Amino acid sequence: MKESGVARENYVVIVGCGRLGAHLAELVSGRGSSVVVVDTNPDAFLALPSEFSGFTVEGDASEMGVLLQAKAGRADLFVAVTGSDNLNLMAAQIAGRLLGAKRALARVDEPSRVDAFVDIGIEVISPTTIMAGLFLTA
Ligand code: AMP
Repeated sequence: MKESGVARENYVVIVGCGRLGAHLAELVSGRGSSVVVVDTNPDAFLALPSEFSGFTVEGDASEMGVLLQAKAGRADLFVAVTGSDNLNLMAAQIAGRLLGAKRALARVDEPSRVDAFVDIGIEVISPTTIMAGLFLTA
């Protein structure tokens, strides 16, 4: 896998421990960053590998108290990758703009919404758009 900016960050907060979040946590933790993963569902943390050396916070990332518990404001990188575009955008905005995370990224699955969010200064990654591009060029 290509080296990413994520790998070089010291303190990374990941919201959503689904397939993407858990895999990202495994990669980032394996490359030496301190990682905190947030999820409402404690069972989701079972997807983390046994060698995962970070921390977990059980809670709803739309709640400020949960983001504070995860020390989102101290994050070099905050990544919101739940299945909800709205939640991801809200959490990334709160972490980046209100709490002071150095960088905040949101997963946005709905391609038609990407430009609008980029226009208001939110960094987004759209798995749908990336996948479509890969299929087109495969
Ligand atoms: P998926 O949609 O399968 O990629 O996974 C999304 C993950 O985000 C699941 O493990 C959900 O439990 C988690 N999730 C959904 N809503 C929230 C929330 N409000 N706060 C934290 N985690 C959430």
